[in-house]
Amino acid sequence: PATVRGLTKSFGDHTVIDGLDLDIEPGQFVALLGPSGCGKSTLLRILADLDREITGEVQVAQRRAVAFQAPRLLPWKRVWRNVVLGLRGKPNRAKAVAALEEVGLGHRVDVWPKVLSGGEAQRASLARALVREPDLLLLDEPFSALDALTRLKVQALVGELWQRHGCAILLVTHDVEEALLLADRVLVMDGGGIVHDQLVEHPRPRDVSAPAFVAQRSEL
Ligand code: ATP
Ligand code: MG
Repeated sequence: PATVRGLTKSFGDHTVIDGLDLDIEPGQFVALLGPSGCGKSTLLRILADLDREITGEVQVAQRRAVAFQAPRLLPWKRVWRNVVLGLRGKPNRAKAVAALEEVGLGHRVDVWPKVLSGGEAQRASLARALVREPDLLLLDEPFSALDALTRLKVQALVGELWQRHGCAILLVTHDVEEALLLADRVLVMDGGGIVHDQLVEHPRPRDVSAPAFVAQRSEL
C-alpha cells in the first residue's frame, strides 16, 4: 500500500524529512513513534496526499483513509452524513448505518456531532474511514485525546477492525505500549528518517480478546 523512496520535505529552510525510505506491506499494522516535532504527522499527511510539495518518490494505495487526533466531524451535518461525506453518488444512509453499527454507534446515526462524547466522536471518525474500504488506513494519534478507559476501548476496536478488514494501518502514536500491543511492526522516526524498524512478535492469531481488552469491551 505504500512505497516511499528518498522522500524529502522542507518548510522554508527547515528540512523535516530528509531522504526517507519506507515500504508498508499489504495488511501490515505499522506503528510510528518518534519525538515531538520529528515529522510523523508531516509524513502521514504526505501519505494521505494532503501535501504534495515534496521531493522524492511516494506511491500509495488509491484507497486510503485518514483519522486524526481530533475527529473533525462537520457540526452542521448529522453523524451518518459525516460518515459518508465525500463518497461518490447520493449519500448512502444504509452504508453509514452499517459502518456506525460496526463501531458500536448504531444508536447515534441521526444525532448532531456535538452530542457525541470524545470516544464516540473518535469511533464515528473510524466509521468514516471504514466506509472508504481503505487499503491503507492512516491514523494520527487517534487515541491521545481520550480518557484512559475510552482509549482502551477504541484501541481494541481498531485492533478488531484491522483483523476484520485486513487493511494496512499506519498508526502514529507516542505510546510505546500501545505500539507493541497493536502493531506488527514498530518504526521510530528521528532526524528526518526512520532510525529504527522492528517487527513485533505476537501469538497468532493476534489476541485482541486478551484480558485487558475483554474487561473494557463489555461496555462498547
Ligand atoms: P508531534 O509528535 O508533536 O505531533 P510530529 O512528529 O507529528 O510531532 P510534525 O507535526 O510532522 O511533527 O512537524 C514536524 C516539524 O515540521 C515541526 O518542526 C513543525 O514545526 C514543522 N511543521 C509542520 N507543519 C508545518 C507547516 N505547515 N509550516 C511550517 N512548519 C511546519
Ligand atoms: Mg504529530
